[in-house]
Amino acid sequence: MFETDALDVPQRALTGDLPAESRVAGLLLEAHERYAGEQAGVVADYIPALAEADPALFGLSLTEVDGTVHRVGDSEVPFSIQSISKAFVLALVCEEIGHEEVHRIVGVNNTGLPFSSVIALELNHGSPMNPMVNAGAIATTALMPGDSAEEKWEAVREGLSRFAGRRLELDERVLASESASNHRNQGIADLLTSYGRLLGDPAEIVDVYTRQCSLLVTADDLAVMGATLADGGVNPVTGQRVVSAEVCRDTLSVLAACGMYETSGEWLFEIGLPAKSGVSGGIVAIAPGKGALGTFSPPLDAAGNSVRGQRACAFLSRALGLNLFASLPHPVKGAATRE
Ligand code: GLU
Repeated sequence: MFETDALDVPQRALTGDLPAESRVAGLLLEAHERYAGEQAGVVADYIPALAEADPALFGLSLTEVDGTVHRVGDSEVPFSIQSISKAFVLALVCEEIGHEEVHRIVGVNNTGLPFSSVIALELNHGSPMNPMVNAGAIATTALMPGDSAEEKWEAVREGLSRFAGRRLELDERVLASESASNHRNQGIADLLTSYGRLLGDPAEIVDVYTRQCSLLVTADDLAVMGATLADGGVNPVTGQRVVSAEVCRDTLSVLAACGMYETSGEWLFEIGLPAKSGVSGGIVAIAPGKGALGTFSPPLDAAGNSVRGQRACAFLSRALGLNLFASLPHPVKGAATRE
């Protein structure tokens, strides 16, 4: 485990501005037009209820840290949040138990293996490795405050609702469908228990985790939820503080390393933003200090990331200047050495 002695140094922040509002709106529209006709990808069907999604749906939304909202297409269509919930439950747990405990108990390194891998657990002596794979997410959900599964579930629902700025409802059909077919997650929870890595009853924790994945959101919600992480933990639409600025930083670092399944490295290489996707076709991509993109389109690539969503994020990251790793030479300082 990497150890640092710099935890007491005050965290300074790097921010920047988005282009003017009309330019942002125009580029969102352009991204939608560019990729609405994209036909690649397959709708997830390992949870039977997800297979019913309309592959043509495509919504894009962007919330700025000043609360300005831009949207285009099917940004108000509800879908189950699935793995994207892992990002926000991680933030709530970080707020509860802190940076070092999350690092110690759950871990923050990519497994390089699929999100539902059992081999990853065995290869790492029962360490769930990170909160974005199912093993780590189930272990993280178990760390939510509450003495019973019911209390933990209420804390999850209430916490994610504060990120969204409205009360999130459950998709009962998806919950029933996933509950009847999630033998693998039950196996992962039992394996975690066998390694002494899961607090509480494994079946109950899997049930809370499955509920959290079945909460209904829209691309608009994802943009507001992400913008809260971009805004030092204050929801820019409601003005309510949801988590601390340090928790946002910690959560975003985990998303950068592990948020986009086993292609997290390629995502960072092309798009340069912390992000999380889910098997129902959503993506949230966060530009710290600027805002967040929420996208929805059900067809997925082989790793489980929405094809149209990824393409739109790559276009917008470039056009809006969001890539965290992009820079240009200073115009004055370097002038003497350039022709
Ligand atoms: N509820 C899904 C599962 O646990 C989430 C998968 C995902 O979105 O990656 O299998």
